[in-house]
Amino acid sequence: MSYMALYRKWRPTTFEDVKGQDHIVQTLKNQITSGRIGHAYLFCGTRGTGKTSIAKIFARAVNCEHPVDGSPCGECQTCKNIASGASLNVVEIDAASNNGVENIRDIREQVQYPPTEGRYRVYIIDEVHMLSTGAFNALLKTLEEPPSYVIFILATTEIHKIPITVLSRCQRYDFKRITIQTLTARLKELSEAEGIDVEDKALTYIAKAADGSMRDALSLLDQCVAFHFGERLTYDHVLDILGAVDTTIFSKMFRAVRQEQTTQCIYELEELVLQGRELGQFVTDFIWYLRNLLLIQATDDAEDILDMSTDNRKLLEEDAKMADGETLMRYIRVFSELSNQIRYASQKRVLVELAFIKLTKPQMEHSYDSIIERLNKIEDQLEEGVPVNPSMLAGMTSPVTQMAVSQAVGPTEPEVPREQVALPKAQYEDLELIRNEWGKIVRTLGGVIRSSFRDTVVEPSGEGCLCVVFASVDNFEIGRRPTIMGELEQYVKNTYGKDIYFKARLMGTGERMDTVYVSDEELRERIHMDIAIEEE
Ligand SMILES: [Zn+2]
Repeated sequence: MSYMALYRKWRPTTFEDVKGQDHIVQTLKNQITSGRIGHAYLFCGTRGTGKTSIAKIFARAVNCEHPVDGSPCGECQTCKNIASGASLNVVEIDAASNNGVENIRDIREQVQYPPTEGRYRVYIIDEVHMLSTGAFNALLKTLEEPPSYVIFILATTEIHKIPITVLSRCQRYDFKRITIQTLTARLKELSEAEGIDVEDKALTYIAKAADGSMRDALSLLDQCVAFHFGERLTYDHVLDILGAVDTTIFSKMFRAVRQEQTTQCIYELEELVLQGRELGQFVTDFIWYLRNLLLIQATDDAEDILDMSTDNRKLLEEDAKMADGETLMRYIRVFSELSNQIRYASQKRVLVELAFIKLTKPQMEHSYDSIIERLNKIEDQLEEGVPVNPSMLAGMTSPVTQMAVSQAVGPTEPEVPREQVALPKAQYEDLELIRNEWGKIVRTLGGVIRSSFRDTVVEPSGEGCLCVVFASVDNFEIGRRPTIMGELEQYVKNTYGKDIYFKARLMGTGERMDTVYVSDEELRERIHMDIAIEEE
């Protein structure tokens, strides 16, 4: 028999099996028992939190002939047909690979005909944020007037990429990260069912590493079991397999930070890199280490919460005496910020080094932004061939600063010419209008918009849509909210008579925002040849 991954084998088939999303499950069950079923649902939340599983159960439950307390019975013909894949009533679409207008048009064709058996045809569109603007517009038309027998369940990990027009037509459900306790309990339950011999501590560590995702937790367990097949899976095994760093290393680094030994931190980091440790995981674990120090300071009886060996706990208790709570909080802030940035960064190591410099040299943190700003100016001048005035380097002369500067600039990338993109005339004109007026719009709207829209750039995002690109995570979290985007849209409509949808996104690390946009008309005239226009 071929091996089936745990997360596939144990995918929940009834609402009762779903863990950690009680608020959502209860609401959906109530809708089924009371017969108040909606036509468009939006499931959002991080990966592995049960969005697709719940969507599938819901799709079966609405069609089931005898639902039991809102869950599908699993016995009736409809339930059986759906389970075996023979039914046409549940259609799953992965928008990552079917993101064009024609894919959505296919659906619009299909929904004209009612299902021949069962009550509802349910379309589950996974990764819906990947749809093109044109596809979203096509979908919108169906969402506006859905036939009574059609249900759409849209699932996404990136809610901010969904147009407001679509959001406003869906019942929205926010899936929570699953807690470590819930994950651990489920892992324990499945290990017992599978006859896997494993230490509780090992399961807790796997749950912690899964970061709120049930799918990741089960995949990690799979991976660990495969490594030590037939033996008892211990905590040490798990640490080893997941590339976790020993507590003593964190302790060493923490002490070096307290003694302001920047070089020592960077040396320890180098060791970890040489050992092939994954830096993203290191950052997550270091945050946990700092959090544990805070816990020890805050409670008399941290023993139960910490779940670690006596030796390690003693070490932590000593470390906890070396910094006050406020300092620890600052360290956690610096590293939390880092953990957001590091995921998609190409120069992970430089970012971690910079974070350690921030910790060891607190005075640097305030002036960091200004250093980058001055650096940019210098770079611009160098590019234009203007000799750099040495006074611009004033205040950037300490060895640590120089190190930060040279690492931030990093290995110089080859000069890439600015990309030129042609837009349809109408889109180009909208973009030009809003870009020219942007400063004024932001100032006039004032309030939250004025403060959170600092350092934003507007870019084209298809027909009738513009995207506000934020440089800072914090501002992005504030500025991307639907109410804010709505206010912006209303203002643009009232002031310029334009119906423009606004989206928001966060600028990627190292992303160059220097694309030149031209109208396709202009470009055609200029180069006298046909050019490919960006679709939609
Ligand atoms: Zn049934």
